[in-house]
Amino acid sequence: MQIILMGPPGAGKGTQAEQLIEYFKIPHISTGDMFRAAIKQQTPLGLKAKEYMDAGGLVPDEVTIGIVADRLAQADCQNGFLLDGFPRTAAQADALAKILSDTHITIDGVINIELSESDLLERLTGRRVCKQCGATYHTVFNASKEHGVCDKCGGELYQRSDDTLETAQNRLKVYNDQTEPLIAYYSKLGLLKQINGDQEIKQVFSDVLRALE
Ligand SMILES: [Zn+2]
Repeated sequence: MQIILMGPPGAGKGTQAEQLIEYFKIPHISTGDMFRAAIKQQTPLGLKAKEYMDAGGLVPDEVTIGIVADRLAQADCQNGFLLDGFPRTAAQADALAKILSDTHITIDGVINIELSESDLLERLTGRRVCKQCGATYHTVFNASKEHGVCDKCGGELYQRSDDTLETAQNRLKVYNDQTEPLIAYYSKLGLLKQINGDQEIKQVFSDVLRALE
């Protein structure tokens, strides 16, 4: 099973990815994870990627495409894979199509988890972190018993600067600008499967499986 997983920040993509790799016994290919691992291990790619990320920019397509191509050539991808966070642009999608056609691999489906902007903002801005012990809460999904106070240690809860409304709106805008052309691209190919993300995790997963049948 060859799957591409898409969805905006806050849509619950990570949870679905975990369940899909478990269900289909396929490797999870996340470019974000690969970059983080490469940076940690200080590989040449990692150092290159870090340079771009430190400068506040995106890692160029050629670098990203190179590591994905290498990864897909590894033995554990022969029975399928889950691509997460790639492709992110139409140029990357073209490059992926070329890699796949060279190796005679076809994509079974492109899963796109959808949620309204207001739901996403609620999810993205609700996180609260304990100043003292680092425990995390969510104002809607996992609230502390007493407002603003940690259940575990009584510490003060705060909102991280990257969880503010402005940052969240900005993340969504960047995501939408980048992925709109991709959605059109895969829709035209008949591969796009739109999934309603505003449901119980279990229901989302069963919709995903049905879409891949
Ligand atoms: Zn605490």
